[in-house]
Amino acid sequence: MSVNLATKPGSVEHRERDLYETAVEQYHIAADAMGLEDSMRRILAHCQREVTVSFPVEMDDGSVEVYTGHRVQHNNGPGPTKGGIRYHQSVTLSEVKALAMWMTWKCAVVGLPFGGAKGGVTVNPKLLSQNELQNLTRRYTAEISFMIGPTKDIPAPDVNTNPQIMAWLMDTYSMNVGYSVPGVVTGKPIVLGGSEGRSEATGRGCVFAIQEAVQEIGMNLTSTKTVVQGFGNAGSVAARLMSETGSSVVGVSDSQGGIYNAKGLDLAAVSAHKDRTGSVIGFDGAQDVTNEELLELPCDILIPAAMEGQLGAHNAGRVTAKLIAEAANGPTSPEADAIFRENGVLLLPDVFANAGGVTVSYFEWVQALQAFPWTEAQVNERLQQVMSKSFAAVYGTAQKYRVHMRTAALIRAVERVADFTRVRGIYP
Ligand code: NAD
Repeated sequence: MSVNLATKPGSVEHRERDLYETAVEQYHIAADAMGLEDSMRRILAHCQREVTVSFPVEMDDGSVEVYTGHRVQHNNGPGPTKGGIRYHQSVTLSEVKALAMWMTWKCAVVGLPFGGAKGGVTVNPKLLSQNELQNLTRRYTAEISFMIGPTKDIPAPDVNTNPQIMAWLMDTYSMNVGYSVPGVVTGKPIVLGGSEGRSEATGRGCVFAIQEAVQEIGMNLTSTKTVVQGFGNAGSVAARLMSETGSSVVGVSDSQGGIYNAKGLDLAAVSAHKDRTGSVIGFDGAQDVTNEELLELPCDILIPAAMEGQLGAHNAGRVTAKLIAEAANGPTSPEADAIFRENGVLLLPDVFANAGGVTVSYFEWVQALQAFPWTEAQVNERLQQVMSKSFAAVYGTAQKYRVHMRTAALIRAVERVADFTRVRGIYP
């Protein structure tokens, strides 16, 4: 089946491209490679439920603002749906749909009993007070509460949302049903039934994925240089754990720009500088670079851990890394994928490389349902097992079908979700 793209590849800056089109194009590449039958191909190309809500929020000065948010469930065949909630001024329905579809594939790649979902509110949360942020979170939760629940759809943190926001979400849902429901959300504070290891899980899982990959390609981490784009939850943890493996982290960035030191950065000092000033830029002992320059710095391993649409036809050829691990969702366009493949770059795709977050969310959900907490060591050990087994499975699929890792991961995922769908049959 050919894919009808509204944007001609290469005709516009990749980041302007509609994200859902990218997700669907990636899916069709996998569906072609595996020979997926036409009816199944059409079912899985669509999101099952898309809800858009507009709601008022009372601001601190007594004025009222109206915000728009979304919750999309791509496919609930494998079980309850799972996916984070993002607060960002650039959130669109198309973006949330793409992220929901990727969540379905991600859960399937690592074998979790979940389908995929995602939520988002179009807002710059940095302009809100804590009180306004709480009002917004509680009202958005109330608006989508009919579709979430511990056996229906379980949100989690994503860009600009955190354990405190998950606590407000859990409290709002619980107050509405009349009893405490810790399993309605993951990424909660530990005191509310959050899991040890959850806040570091995305970065940690990404580093486990890299450790598997370097063994396969014969790279020695202690003689490598790493660059990380984004210094938030996923990126700052990935950077710290990479340096603990012996890799020299030479560049990091945030939304204001990046910093570079060819001899390696002192990451504890970078974090302290960011806490003090609000950004990594201006750090002593490193030179400031733009985010565009950061992606092209000399290095062996590149970890995009910020936003989507960072690596496209315009810059992929200038990336020097031989291994890319997508801690972020959707940082690479299909055109850039092709360039990396031609240049012999091994790319660990988002649906595998950042699956540590949802894997430990699954562990948290299990612990909440059983009211039986695990230790951090147990969480990390089980996460490593999941990442190791999934790497072997995806790498094996790549060899079998002679495709790159993204298509291999999607083939595994689509096979699994298609199996569920076939066995259940079509209702009625
Ligand atoms: P976060 O809000 O904690 O951090 C985002 C970071 O990216 C911040 O440092 C921000 O300054 C930076 N940033 C924003 N725009 C940027 C730009 N244009 N260039 C460079 N840096 C920029 O968010 P997070 O949770 O770390 O999420 C980052 C990525 O990881 C997203 O793609 C998210 O979907 C993905 N992800 C997160 C999780 C999770 O558990 N948090 C799980 C899976 C995937």
